[in-house]
Amino acid sequence: MILNLSGVLSEQHEPLDAVVPCEMEEFRIRKDSYPVISKEEAFIHVEYAGEHKLYIRGTCRLVIGVPCDRCLTAVPTEFELDFEREVESRTAEAAADETDELDENNYIDGYHLDVDRLLYNEILVGWPMKVLCSESCRGICNVCGQNLNEGTCNCIDTGIDLGMSVIRDVFKNFKEV
Ligand SMILES: [Zn+2]
Ligand SMILES: [Zn+2]
Repeated sequence: MILNLSGVLSEQHEPLDAVVPCEMEEFRIRKDSYPVISKEEAFIHVEYAGEHKLYIRGTCRLVIGVPCDRCLTAVPTEFELDFEREVESRTAEAAADETDELDENNYIDGYHLDVDRLLYNEILVGWPMKVLCSESCRGICNVCGQNLNEGTCNCIDTGIDLGMSVIRDVFKNFKEV
């Protein structure tokens, strides 16, 4: 959803308050994509902060399926966005000249504010380092990929047994020498 900032950027500098539907269906980081399980409307407030700056305040609640760090099961993870930002308002031509700052406010282009892009940045800032489906998650088998929370597999047991007996044999041989 694109908000029109022409009122805010006009001579009158009218503040803008908008209730905006979040259109994000999935959240992408590079090649990975995570489903947006539920989302609420975003509240966005924009006002002129002087000297070509804009003050933006926003809130939005989303639930995104973030893979468990151990077993990769999607864990519904809540993002309670509540942010304030002050950014340069620049015309498209000025933005093209200042490529070094483009990343910081890539959601404003001239008179347009791209709400999904703004929310994307905020979600990225709050992205958890590690998500676990439960503290006792047992992860997946490295050999066959079995989710060990849902069942066991044979390769784990025989793997460990083989390993142990080999070590025992080595130890025995060593002793006999
Ligand atoms: Zn897990
Ligand atoms: Zn296995």
